[in-house]
Amino acid sequence: KNLVVAIDGYSSCGKSTLAKALAKKLGFIYIDSGAMYRAVTLYFIRNQVNINDPEAVKYALAHIELNFHSRDYQSHITLNGEEVSEEIRLMPVSEKVSEVSANKLVRHEMVRQQQRMGKSKNIVMDGRDIGTKVFEDAQVKLFMTADPKIRAERRFKEMQSKGDTSTTLEEVFENLAHRDYADTTRAESPLTRAQDAIILDNTNITQDEQLQFALSKVQP
Ligand code: C5P
Repeated sequence: KNLVVAIDGYSSCGKSTLAKALAKKLGFIYIDSGAMYRAVTLYFIRNQVNINDPEAVKYALAHIELNFHSRDYQSHITLNGEEVSEEIRLMPVSEKVSEVSANKLVRHEMVRQQQRMGKSKNIVMDGRDIGTKVFEDAQVKLFMTADPKIRAERRFKEMQSKGDTSTTLEEVFENLAHRDYADTTRAESPLTRAQDAIILDNTNITQDEQLQFALSKVQP
């Protein structure tokens, strides 16, 4: 049977960094579930889809095609054939993604697609509901946390290094706090630790230590 490693946790805890490193080391496919919610959000913004209108949401979802293209274990996502990997990381999407991803119809469709992607391949998937909903029977589940200030600083530095200087550290901090709140309190599969998930607090440990820890759980 194929193996699934599920990595969940709060925003900007280093989930995708660890997931990519782990996938590379194990030769598994990395799937960034957050990128899917972000790409859907970008579509909703561009097309002014009314999130409160179920018919409009259904119509939009039927017109969205998402595809991953992985190069060097960096995930690239296309939205109806257009490369949107960079645009989905910008503030307009970050500010709206938690509202869009709280929608039941949106979640239902994303979960369906994610389950299909992990059906017959060895994968590492990161997100908010991977161990609790998408792959409840994943062989390895990690739940990542880190100090909120450290998370905001890391995210801010990452944005700066990519040349995105439009956002202040305070704004990044506020956005993370807002998303954590929205993600943990929504009705539809809220962010929570699966009972069998192993907690990994990476406030004070290096990326390599995280990788070694995760590897020790996959290959005991
Ligand atoms: O992982 P990332 O921070 O890019 O995810 C962006 C947002 O997408 C999260 O704040 C959350 O609202 C939503 N999300 C989700 N379920 C997932 C992955 C992401 O609701 N499995």
